[in-house]
This record gives sequence, structure tokens and C-alpha cells, in this order.
Amino acid sequence: MSMRQRGGHFLTEEEKKAAPKVTKELILRVLSYMKPYRVQFVIVFIAIIISSFLGIYPSILTGKIIDEGLIGRSMPKLITFIMLSLGVTVGANLIGVLESYMNTWIAQHITFDMRNQMYEHLSRMSTRFFMESHQGDIITRMTSDIDGVRQVIVNTFTSILSNSITLVIALIAMFRMNWFFAVLALVIVPLFALPARSAGQKRWQLTRESQECNDQINSILNETLSVSGQLLVKLFGMEDFEIRRYKRFNKKMTQLNIRESMAGRWFRVVISSISSVGPMLLYLSGGILMMKYDRNITVGDITVLVSLLSRMYGPVNSLLNIQTDWIRAMAMFTRIFSYFDMKPEIENAPDALKPDHADGDIEFRNVSFRYNEEKMILKDISFRLEHGRSIAIVGPSGSGKSTTVNLIPRLYDVTDGEVLFDGNDVRKLDLAWLRSQIGIVTQDTYLFNGTIRENLMYANIKASEEDMMEACRKANIHDFIIKQENGYDTQVGNRGLKLSGGEKQRISIARVLLKDPSVMIFDEATASLDSISEKAIQDAIDPLVTSRTSILIAHRLSTILAADEILVIKDGVIAERGTHEQLVNAGGVYTELYDTQFKPELHEKKEGNPC
Ligand code: ADP
Repeated sequence: MSMRQRGGHFLTEEEKKAAPKVTKELILRVLSYMKPYRVQFVIVFIAIIISSFLGIYPSILTGKIIDEGLIGRSMPKLITFIMLSLGVTVGANLIGVLESYMNTWIAQHITFDMRNQMYEHLSRMSTRFFMESHQGDIITRMTSDIDGVRQVIVNTFTSILSNSITLVIALIAMFRMNWFFAVLALVIVPLFALPARSAGQKRWQLTRESQECNDQINSILNETLSVSGQLLVKLFGMEDFEIRRYKRFNKKMTQLNIRESMAGRWFRVVISSISSVGPMLLYLSGGILMMKYDRNITVGDITVLVSLLSRMYGPVNSLLNIQTDWIRAMAMFTRIFSYFDMKPEIENAPDALKPDHADGDIEFRNVSFRYNEEKMILKDISFRLEHGRSIAIVGPSGSGKSTTVNLIPRLYDVTDGEVLFDGNDVRKLDLAWLRSQIGIVTQDTYLFNGTIRENLMYANIKASEEDMMEACRKANIHDFIIKQENGYDTQVGNRGLKLSGGEKQRISIARVLLKDPSVMIFDEATASLDSISEKAIQDAIDPLVTSRTSILIAHRLSTILAADEILVIKDGVIAERGTHEQLVNAGGVYTELYDTQFKPELHEKKEGNPC
């Protein structure tokens, strides 16, 4: 919805409250976006001056048509002035075309720059930013707000400029003809423009009320006429209640609509009265002046003055509303800039290291971490994972397992302590390099809407066809893919919805393999899958675990047993560590997990899973 449609000419209470402080910095910052296009702006400026002048000129020519052509009874003069007037009007319109082309061009280029800058900036923001902001807000900033900028440039700025210029030219022309009329016009115009403004305000209020009422009606319809909504209404016997509620809102809406259209009617009455009363006053006072006091005043002069006067209403009306547009525009710029000002929490160190070779040796040294001030999530975690070995992290849900692994590729930075990769603090390593060394397979895999091939190649666009198939063979998914009608070119559907959880999971394992990282992290990769899918994934993971440095966040015994060491995390601390044999009879958290979670799993396997 455009800013004008949304806003009308009046500010809402929230907008008034949120009106930004317009500082010199803000204005300079807005101007900095226009600076690359200053030549084009100068062209627009000149075009506006010329077209405003040419727009007023026919009014002045009207005087000559009447005095010298009609009253002076001169055919050649009449025709000359008429032709001139027509020519000037055509000229003004042609320049208007140039002006709006340049205008649109500038606005599109400025928003093009802003969109690119915003997308780049947002892409570099940290995980926390995306976790904590509403997705809708981000999209609104990218779309509506930036589109608002375009409108501000096309409408607000040019309207301020062209209206002020028209007004000044009209006033100069009036003063040059007769100072008395000019002063009279200065009094009359605002006097009549103001009531029009308050009539508009009333109408705007009613429009807003009816919009709100309409929103409520829509939500009632959405809630009660959907399949599940209808079911709820029926099961609770609420039909009569809902019918009464609907009728009440429907009645309110009808009344509001009637009032709104009548307010519009009054608005038009006021507007048309203004446009007729003003000129009448000028005819009257001009007539009195001409007949009684000043014989030099001609009929043409009075006509010109009336015509100039009527040309002033529009600009005055717009300029009276400029404040609203201005505040709204500044609020929008402030919102956009506040996004630009957010610093990505995690950035590359100035002299970041980019080693030629990676072993994938990971060490946590007294790591503590909290997401926010409230609660320490990880407390003094220390462990080392040597090149080529594997660790399983187990523990109750919410104990901090995913948080631990997220610190390795720096999705978040530690609050205290250090995470080392090949002996270097991860904060000192080049971020892109570090992330290229780590492959994570999470439980909820995300596939883009595209083909299987596109999704796989996302990890490594340089990979060959053979590499891709090899990765899929290792991930136990190649046979499935080639059985599909289009093989590797099969569409996965929106977010991979056309595939089962297990298939998606294996594709995502293949994707990580194609990236060929030195460390693999599996975050409960086999949770929430049936046992057949789980087996297929397990078969894919097991050889990987033995051949690469890996961390497995696991809650299935089979996964845990594949690891060299087990870390048991509870409430953010390492409660126990060791091998399965060492831990199972220790009588601690692991024993408890074993009894409640792993043992039933063993039974299930022995007895055969009914699914
Ligand atoms: P696990 O993987 O062991 O189930 P997590 O590492 O996901 O546990 O979560 C550990 C704790 O951190 C939980 O209490 C969870 O509520 C909290 N937590 C997880 N992610 C966030 C986040 N983005 N912001 C704030 N708290 C979080």
C-alpha cells in the first residue's frame, strides 16, 4: 500500500508520538544518498522552474487576449496570443514529461542503491539479530520502507519544490500587476484553504475508523469461516453468538460508510465554494476599484488576477499538508538508518588469520556463554577434540548441547573463555574460512525451492558431477535420487516439502560432504525419524565419523557408540565424560539417560519396531 493511501494527509496518534527529531545529521545523511545524482537533480530543478513558469504564463496571456484581442478588437493579436498560450501549455507539458522521467530515474536509482546496501548489511547480521527480530519487520524495511523513499523523492520533494515555485511566481506576477490584489489574494487563499483542511481531517478519521472496523470483520470471517474455525464454532454451539457478533460489526460498518461518504460530500461542497467565492470576491473588489477609483485597471487585469488566484489554491493546499508528508518521510528514513546503524555482532577481526591448511582440532577452554543477561547457559566448559577423533554430546533437552556447537563456527561468541580451532582462538580466524571448515547437519534441514542438484551445489559451486554423486553415495541417497523421474534435476518443492524427513536429511548430509569440511557436526541428525530412515542415515554417518573429526549431538545409543568419547552435559556444565563402558555403570546422569532413553531403544530394536 502506498504511503499516501496509507497515510492520507493527517498523522495518526502513533505517528505524532514517533515523529523523529530532525537533526542536521539526519538531513545530511538523506542528502548523501542523493549526492551521486546531483546533476540529475539540477536538471529536475531547472525543469520544475521552467514548467512552473510556463504553467502560470497562460493566465497572464488571458489578460492580453481579453484586453488587446477582444476589447481592442484586433484579430491578429487575438490569434497570436491564443497560439502563444497553446504553445506555452504544450511546452510546459513536454518539460513536465522530462521532469517526471528524470524524477523517476533518480528515485529508482536511489532506492536501487539503498536496497543493495540494506540486503548486504542484513546478510552480514549475526544469528542473534534474526532470532530476535520479527521476520515481517525485516521484510517491511526491505520493501515498504524503501519503496516509501521512492515516493518521497517522486512526490514530496518535487511537490514542495514545484508548489513553492508556482506560488512565488504567481505572487510576483500579481504584485507586478497590482499590489492591492496581491495582498488580497494573500489573505483570501489561506482563509479558504484552511476549512478544506479540517473537512479533510474529519473524513480521514472516518476512513480510519471504517478501516479498523473492516479489519475486525475480516478477522471474524477468517476465524469463523475457515474449516477448523467452523468446526470449533459447531462443536461449542457458538453459531448464534457468532451471528450476533457479525451483525453488530456489519451494522457499525454500514453506518460508518454512510457517514464517510457524507463527509466526502461536505468536503466537496467546501471545496467548490472556495473555488467560487474567492474569484467572486476578486471580481467584486476589482470591479469597485476599476469603476470608482482606478481607471487604469482593465477587465483583462482582473481576469488575470482571478486566474492566478485559482492557480494558487492547489499549491497552498499541498504546502499546508507538507508537514505531514515531511514527518512521515523523516520517520521512514530514521527507521531505515537505524537498521543501517546496527553493527553485526560478529565480525572479522581486522588482521584475521587464514591458514593454508586445517586439521580440525577443536578445544574449548573454560567456556561460559549466555544469550542474554538472564541466565548463564554454558558454565566453564572445557574439552578437546583432536584431529580425526569424534565426540558425542549427550544430555537432557535444553542442557546446552546445540549452544555448545554453535560457538564453533561463531554463530555466537563466547561470554568467557576461548574456543580454539587448530590452536587459534576462533575470533582471530577469518570468519568465512572458519565456517568453510565446519559442516553442520541439523535436525530441521533447510532446502531451497529448486532442484536437488541446485541444493547440493550450494555447498560448492565448483564441484564436479562426479564429486556430487560421490557425496550422495556416501550420504546413502544417490540410489534414491536416480530413481526419481528427473534424477538430480528433480524439484524439491517449497523448503523440500516434496521429500520425506529422512530424504531431506540425507541430501543435507551430502551437501555438507560436498563442502568437504575438516570438522563435521551432527546435531541430533536422526531425531524424529522412523527407524528405517534412521538406519539409512546412520549408515551414512558411521563411516564419516570414523574418517573425520566429528561432533555428534546424539540421543540414540547407536550414534553415541560410534564416538570415541562421550560428554554428558547437564544444566550447562560437563557432568560426566568417558566411554560408554566407563559411564554406564557410574550411576550418574548417563546411567539415568541410559535407563530411560537408550535401554528402551535397545528393546525396541530387539522386538522389532511395529512401524
Ligand atoms: P539442547 O541443544 O541441549 O537441547 P540448547 O543449546 O538448544 O539445548 O539450549 C540451551 C538453553 O538455551 C535452553 O534453556 C534454551 O531455552 C536457551 N536458548 C537456546 N537458544 C536461545 C536463544 N537464541 N536465545 C535465548 N535462549 C536460548
